[in-house]
Amino acid sequence: MAAPDSLPARLAPLLPALREAAREPLGLYLHWPFCRDRCTYCSFVTTRDGGLEAAVLARLLEEIRGWGRALGSPALDTLYLGGGTPSLLGLEALGALSRGIRAAFGTLGLAEATLEANPGTVDQDWLQGARRLGWDRVSLGVQSFDDALLARLGRIHDGAAAEQALRAASAAGFARRSADLILGIPGQRLSGVLEDAQRLADLGVTHLSIYMLDLDKACPLRAEVEAGRLALPSEDDVAECFEALQARLPALGLEPYEISNAAAPGEHSRHNLRYWERRPYLGLGPSAASHLGRWRWTASPVIPAWAEGRGETELQELDAAEELGEVPLLGLRLHQGVDWDALRARAERDGLLPLVDAWEQNLSTFHSQGLLLREGPRLRLTPRGMLLSNPVLQVFV
Ligand code: SF4
Repeated sequence: MAAPDSLPARLAPLLPALREAAREPLGLYLHWPFCRDRCTYCSFVTTRDGGLEAAVLARLLEEIRGWGRALGSPALDTLYLGGGTPSLLGLEALGALSRGIRAAFGTLGLAEATLEANPGTVDQDWLQGARRLGWDRVSLGVQSFDDALLARLGRIHDGAAAEQALRAASAAGFARRSADLILGIPGQRLSGVLEDAQRLADLGVTHLSIYMLDLDKACPLRAEVEAGRLALPSEDDVAECFEALQARLPALGLEPYEISNAAAPGEHSRHNLRYWERRPYLGLGPSAASHLGRWRWTASPVIPAWAEGRGETELQELDAAEELGEVPLLGLRLHQGVDWDALRARAERDGLLPLVDAWEQNLSTFHSQGLLLREGPRLRLTPRGMLLSNPVLQVFV
């Protein structure tokens, strides 16, 4: 089978192996890199330049066709349209993408199709249209219900719009509704966070993603903090907030299942689970990441270059030790942890037991600090370990 035009040249020689890896049902992620305005903390690949939309849509459709053909129309079991703001896509464009996916991939076994949406950009007509196109889960970027905090984050919506969007999603038939909350916003208080979580539960969300405000990269909010015009909450305050929220979630019907995620029973994000469980996925769009077989690659983050098929793809081939290291690196994020006995058995098969022995030695200090726990065959982070996971996970890098 010839490589399609859209396939980056570096990946073409790998096609037979990638096709083999795609015999297992895949996740498909699409990145729609447009937002109405740029939030003050944003480090995602996104633009306000709507002039690029037609070119990006055309390129996405071409990539969907090309990859479907190249991989032999593989079966999909999860689908995720993220961004950016996918809810800025008109229904006609969303329909074209939905039909393109169905024509290029096997979607009969599709278990979940998630759309990211932002309050302030959705109404019931749009949500009903999306539902009719087969999308069955919506993830709303609520972040907070506090208007002052939302303004600080540069969000285009207020708390009322967030509530309206969640109600509209429910009325449009989205039984599966997820919301994002951000912790660590300047001026945020613990009581406000708990009230937000309660309000989301009252609005019937079935899934919650809790992110820490991350100002590692240059952005307007970081500049405000550096100039002394805004103060971030202390690490202790953020930790207290995180722990109090985690403790409150079960009473709200939401069980934490990953460092940043909680869900009602059976409502975890099946698409995101595949990232932590190292199951294969294909990402299409600028900056989108893929993982098939031993390979990981990331598409160019330069939107115009990507749209013209000129961008550089970053490709990484993992050796056996790197693949093994990813199992705990990603799997320990999950509350269920990692089957360490199975990991040791795999390491023995691959001649990598000395590596696991070295990890165990490095991990012993985290056991004594109460961050890690061994329960039968499984190794997992404690609730405190979930909060202070970085040094633990660094062991596997
Ligand atoms: S909506 Fe999301 S992707 Fe868009 S600017 Fe805000 S944080 Fe960035």
